[in-house]
Amino acid sequence: MTRPPDSPRSTTTADGPGAVAPALEAVALSKRYRLGEVQILALDDVSLQIAPGSFVAVMGPSGSGKSTLLHLLGLLDAPDEGTVLIDGQDTAGLDDDALTATRRDRIGFVFQTFELIPNLSARENVLLPAEVAGRRADGERLLASLAEHLDVADRLEHRPAQLSGGQRQRVALARALVNDPVVVLADEPTGNLDSVSGQEVLDLLRSGVDDRGWTVAMVTHDPNAAMIADRIVFLRDGRVAGEVDTRSDDARERIASFAGV
Ligand code: ADP
Ligand code: MG
Repeated sequence: MTRPPDSPRSTTTADGPGAVAPALEAVALSKRYRLGEVQILALDDVSLQIAPGSFVAVMGPSGSGKSTLLHLLGLLDAPDEGTVLIDGQDTAGLDDDALTATRRDRIGFVFQTFELIPNLSARENVLLPAEVAGRRADGERLLASLAEHLDVADRLEHRPAQLSGGQRQRVALARALVNDPVVVLADEPTGNLDSVSGQEVLDLLRSGVDDRGWTVAMVTHDPNAAMIADRIVFLRDGRVAGEVDTRSDDARERIASFAGV
């Protein structure tokens, strides 16, 4: 995720000149689902900033709004209130075409169930978003280095059914990164993997952030997975219930206390 030197990362903000804009910012997001007569407040006034080059985990009990938050951050769904800023750009006023292009060019998604297209090779799966964006040549260049980093270089001609779960998720990660997004959003990326393959995917996310400047937000219910992030944001009943710096001495105790409620 290296950017040209003229990339508008540095802006003048309330924090003063030169402060770095968040890669992704949620401002007072609320989301209601209507089921007949019943309304569910899935997200209630959630604000969150994700710095470029950082790794954030989102934890919380089932139904606390984690997937809803990730969908709103990724512009897959629109909030009832609030807005999402990507690289400082407010997405509130964008029409459908602009939303589609922003999602395609600036956001990478990784899903628990991989979501690869079964009758395409790994290579064609990875290149599809680049192709759709009209940047296949750029995608091919990036794929060469991504495939190396993600250790799938010798699996690119295989179809998904010919790959292990871990290999599928690493291919899906390459697909998420092929358009050089501002942020990668991952919803339980290790949820369908055995512990060894899951740890490989987590380590690759971590080294991508550390060595390649990726920005990652990952939903997980696994404290060990969350500890690989820089910070953990806890949701409860659709609200931010707290935050833990994973480098703090009491990080594991605080995770346990959030998870235990
Ligand atoms: P999590 O990912 O933390 O398990 P979700 O974001 O999926 O939570 O869900 C938050 C709340 O919103 C839950 O009460 C869930 O039942 C509800 N919800 C999620 N998606 C929908 C939907 N499409 N229609 C109705 N209710 C939904
Ligand atoms: Mg969920």
